[in-house]
Parts: sequence; C-alpha cells; structure tokens
Amino acid sequence: MTISVAIIGSGPSAFYTVDALAKSGAACQIDMIERLPAPFGLIRYGVAPDHESTRKVARNFDKLARGGALKFFGNVEVGRDVSMDDLRGMYDAVVLAVGAPHDRKLGISGQDKKNVFGSADFVGWYNGHPDFRDLNPDLKVKAAAVVGVGNVALDVARLLVRSREELSETDMPDYAVEAFANSSVTDVYLFGRRGPAEAAFTMGELREMGELDLASPVIDAAQLPANVDHLPEAERRVPAKLVEMLRAFSAKPADKPKRVHFRFYSAPKEIHGGERVAGIRIERTKVEGGRAVGTGQFEDIACGLVVAAIGYRSPKIDGAVFDDGKGLYTNTDGRVAPGLYAVGWAMRGPSGVIGSNKIDGQMVGGHIVKDCAVPGGTGPKPGRSALEQALAKRGSKITNYDDWIALDAEEVKRARPKSPRGKFTSVGEMLRFLKKA
Ligand SMILES: Cc1cc2nc3c(=O)[nH]c(=O)nc-3n(C[C@H](O)[C@H](O)[C@H](O)COP(=O)(O)OP(=O)(O)OC[C@H]3O[C@@H](n4cnc5c(N)ncnc54)[C@H](O)[C@@H]3O)c2cc1C
Repeated sequence: MTISVAIIGSGPSAFYTVDALAKSGAACQIDMIERLPAPFGLIRYGVAPDHESTRKVARNFDKLARGGALKFFGNVEVGRDVSMDDLRGMYDAVVLAVGAPHDRKLGISGQDKKNVFGSADFVGWYNGHPDFRDLNPDLKVKAAAVVGVGNVALDVARLLVRSREELSETDMPDYAVEAFANSSVTDVYLFGRRGPAEAAFTMGELREMGELDLASPVIDAAQLPANVDHLPEAERRVPAKLVEMLRAFSAKPADKPKRVHFRFYSAPKEIHGGERVAGIRIERTKVEGGRAVGTGQFEDIACGLVVAAIGYRSPKIDGAVFDDGKGLYTNTDGRVAPGLYAVGWAMRGPSGVIGSNKIDGQMVGGHIVKDCAVPGGTGPKPGRSALEQALAKRGSKITNYDDWIALDAEEVKRARPKSPRGKFTSVGEMLRFLKKA
C-alpha cells in the first residue's frame, strides 16, 4: 500500500519528515503544502541575513525536492484554500509543520504604541517576508530596546549596529539595507529578566557581538556571577562559558561608535510615550529558584524603538486541538489525532536550532509508517488527486518546485554585488515573474 501524506509547511521540520519517510523504505506519496510561493520557512525568512552559511542546509532539502521525494504545492494556505478536515479526508497522514510564526506579546502597558514590534514581524521585515515588507519601522532613533536574551535578540541587536558595507553583502532587501544604513541608532539595550547564567545565547552568536566593526558590547561586571554553581551540575557547562565571555566583554573598553548594552535582571514593566514609544520602564529583579522576582526598584530608559524577542506561537488552524496556553498543537510525541501529526515548532514550541527538527521528523515519520502501513491503519485514501481536484477551483496560481527553481535563479541573477540573492518580497511580484517566465 502507498501511504498518502500531506505535510503542511516547508520549513526544516517538514523536510526532515520527508527525509525520514523517504529513508523508511515504505511506499509514500508526499505532498508539501506551503502558504508562500517559496519554500524553506525560517531558513529563508528567519535566519539572519548575515548568517548566510546557516542557510546552506536548504541545499539538502533542495536535493530531496529535486530528487522527486515530494510534490510542492506553494501559494496554498491550509485553513484558507483547503480545510484541515478536507485534507484529513484526502490523506492517510496529515502533518502540521506550520512552525510558530506569531509573536508572544509583552503583556505590558504601551505595547501597542508605534515603533514597538515583535521579533517575528521585525525579522520578517528585514528578511523580505511578504507579510512584513511594509512594516516600515522608524530607525531614525538614537536608542533601541530589544527584550529577550536568546539568539533572535542577538540577531536583531547585531543588525541594528551593522554597517552598510556589511549589510549590502547579505541578501537583505534594499529597503531594509537603506533603513539600517541610514539609522541613527547608537545604543541598543538588550534586556533579560533573569541573570547571565540563565541566558539562552549560543557561544558563536555571543562571540560575534565582540567582533562587530562599529559596535562594542557593554556589560556591568557587577551583573556577572562569580560562578554558575547555583545551576544543576549537568547544566553548567554552556552558562559558565557564556558568563566568561561576558566577563571578557566587560573588561574591554567600549571604544567603538555604537554600543550594545547587556542588561540582565531587568523586567520590562511599561512602554511610555505618546502615540509612539519614547522609553521603557524596567524593574530590577533577582533570581529566586530559577525565577525572576521584582525588587520594586525601577529605571526608565529612553528609546524610540522596541523589539520584543520573547517567544512565538503556532498559527491556529481549525480542525486540530490547540493548546492556547503553550501556543502549539496538543500532541503526544507528535501524535495529534488519528492520522494527524505535528513536528518542529508546531509540536514542541519555539526552541532549538534547525537540526533539532530532525529528531521530530524521524519520530513522526516512524509513527506514520507504523500507523498507516498496517491492515486496519488509517489508509488508503486518494491523496494527491483529491487535493488537485479541490484546488482546481482556486483562482490564484499554485507554485510547484520548478517555479521555485525559476524564482531562485532569478533572485541569484538580480543580486547586488557580493550578495547571494536579491529576494522577491511580495507574492504578487513572484507570480508576475512566473507568468512572464
Ligand atoms: C529569527 C530566527 C532566527 C533563527 N536563526 C537560526 C539560526 O541561525 N540557526 C538555527 O539553527 N536555527 C535558527 N532558528 C531556528 C529555526 O529557524 C527553527 O528551528 C526552524 O525553522 C523551525 O522549523 P519549522 O519547520 O517548525 O518551522 P518554520 O521554519 O517556521 O516553517 C513553517 C512553514 O509553515 C508555513 N505555514 C504556516 N502556516 C501555514 C498554513 N496554514 N498553510 C501552509 N503553510 C503554512 C510557513 O509559511 C513556513 O514556511 C531561528 C529562528 C528564528 C525565529
């Protein structure tokens, strides 16, 4: 029996699931449904443009797609163009690989003022995501606050102080390069509610903050613990290294024209200003039992831009049980309901690196083979032919993988000198190009 599988999404978790199914030896017909015309999810629209080498993992996924392991249905949104219930009727297995594209809100007063953004929107803007290209943040401000102490916060802080030369060698769209290059930002404040030992940076990303052309990292040595012995022994290695690197930063003079200030034990309490942000109120905290506890001491810091990088939520699609508290699909090891699975950030929330999604893909690929390739399993259902029939009524073009190959080649062709590609930043522009090609 051939198992028909629909995978919703085309990020790392989707491709790792395809890979697992392809390697399982089971006969599968795999369809990948992506709301954008272009594949690869956050590899294309999340990973920082100055980290081009990280994006190279997409080459392996490209090989899978070109090798015929799947059929790509781009520019098709589940929940809009086809319902989850319909898909479940069509396919033996449906996999939610939809990621977690929505920002968690700060939940403080003033969060809706102008020039306050969540990092999903801000990152999407500088990466040319069609949903966010018109975000238009005002970077003509002297100071910016970035809330969060993970790698996404570091990405945002780093890009805010990069030079035009550094940015123009990336695939950042022209509009974003211009906005960053003409920005007046000299000081970026990174706020974390807990201490340096609790930060979620990786070493490579933190090290880069000490190697920027235009900006120095600034940290008050008094915020750095003498050791990380308060953490369980098995969890000390990375935090100890991070603290040592921050200590090295604190010992160096801040002699570059811009600064990135690391402020730990700082919980945002209010964003003030009129219609637009003028500053942020921080409450000093102390860490008790791993949690940040307010001390009642407050500080106001003037800033004209706030970016909150404090986590993400999955998109809610009717037809699958959603855990509102956690912002992901209720599942047990990737099983959501009979014939319905979740992988990646939709399954376990927004944490880990691209490679972390491989384990999810392998696990869920294994479940699918086990659940469907047995007598009495959920199949066989019609699969692709039923989807094609249902989508035939749809007015807008469905992009296939050959279309992506054409878009990719055109992006490479139109790149600025030394830049890897000049991205299409709107769906309309992509579809118009494909019509002419
Ligand atoms: C800003 C940022 C920077 C990062 N940088 C790095 C890094 O440098 N290195 C690293 O290893 N990891 C990085 N990560 C983490 C990495 O990107 C994630 O681990 C990974 O992308 C999660 O994969 P996913 O498949 O679950 O989700 P995603 O990559 O988000 O893919 C989800 C896909 O589903 C599609 N989709 C959503 N809803 C629908 C729908 N209804 N119908 C059809 N399609 C839909 C989306 O358009 C998207 O293409 C970063 C994450 C972020 C947020």
